[in-house]
Amino acid sequence: MPIIDLHCDTISALLDCSRPAGLRANHLHIDLHKLQQANSLAQFFAMYIDLQAVENPLEACLVMIDRFYQEIEQNNDLIQVATSLSDLQANQAQQKISAFLTIEEGGVLKGNLSNLRIFHRLGVRLITLTWNYPNEIGFPNCRTEYQQCGLTAFGQAVVLEMNRLNMMIDVSHLSDQGFYDVAKFSARPFVASHSNARSVKAHSRNLTDAMIKTLAEKGGVMGINFANSFLGNSPVSLIEDMVRHINHIRNIGGIEVIALGSDFDGIAPKLEIADMGELDKLIQALQQHNFSETEIEKICHKNVLRVMKDCLG
Ligand SMILES: [Zn+2]
Repeated sequence: MPIIDLHCDTISALLDCSRPAGLRANHLHIDLHKLQQANSLAQFFAMYIDLQAVENPLEACLVMIDRFYQEIEQNNDLIQVATSLSDLQANQAQQKISAFLTIEEGGVLKGNLSNLRIFHRLGVRLITLTWNYPNEIGFPNCRTEYQQCGLTAFGQAVVLEMNRLNMMIDVSHLSDQGFYDVAKFSARPFVASHSNARSVKAHSRNLTDAMIKTLAEKGGVMGINFANSFLGNSPVSLIEDMVRHINHIRNIGGIEVIALGSDFDGIAPKLEIADMGELDKLIQALQQHNFSETEIEKICHKNVLRVMKDCLG
């Protein structure tokens, strides 16, 4: 079953490694061998920037983008960058995995639309508008006092410009009101790249049923996050909890709204699916819970292919 995963922190994990490590084979959740084992069709690589840990977020993001391109170039027998659905199809025809370049922290734009256009020219095709701090675009969902805070005027302009540039807007981490503002202002579908269902696990990083319905009506997707804290009450990330979220989201928003957003290399190590190489365990669990092959295909890749077609041009 071909797999598209909407979120991982592997590039920042590689930069943080105390000993030299590369994308081809490493001790992390994701490397090229594990992606091959999973039958990966496309992996989204987040350039995650912690605004409080770096002096210049834009510059830190450029360093990370350079590392991303170095890794892809060194391994271009197995993986190639993609910026569109047709790139992905061309890579697939050569049996290569597609790598999509994404940014997790809209603060790297420093409140300037020209930086957005420059990141687009560098190949960025998805931006997570906030991480866990307020920025020029909007407010995060990590604190209740931010939940009613919507997009700023700049945030609204970012949404319109991302629509115009054919970029995917990502609302994971964004405040509830920010989510509804994106739904209101975006002419295209958008995504919650790595968020689960709040009524299954009460966590502000997860989406309410009303948000899931809105996301589905807009034609977007939400990627199932493998972090135990967003899945359930176990200290271990359990496959059973993933299936509970998937079942609930299917009931609320329909099968078309579900995708995968593992958050691998950004989450705690106690995982039933130990790394990307073991993703087949989730597919087997879905089969055991009577999900049809058509439904599993939609979750694993077809829904994201639809959003790519609608958003990336
Ligand atoms: Zn995240």
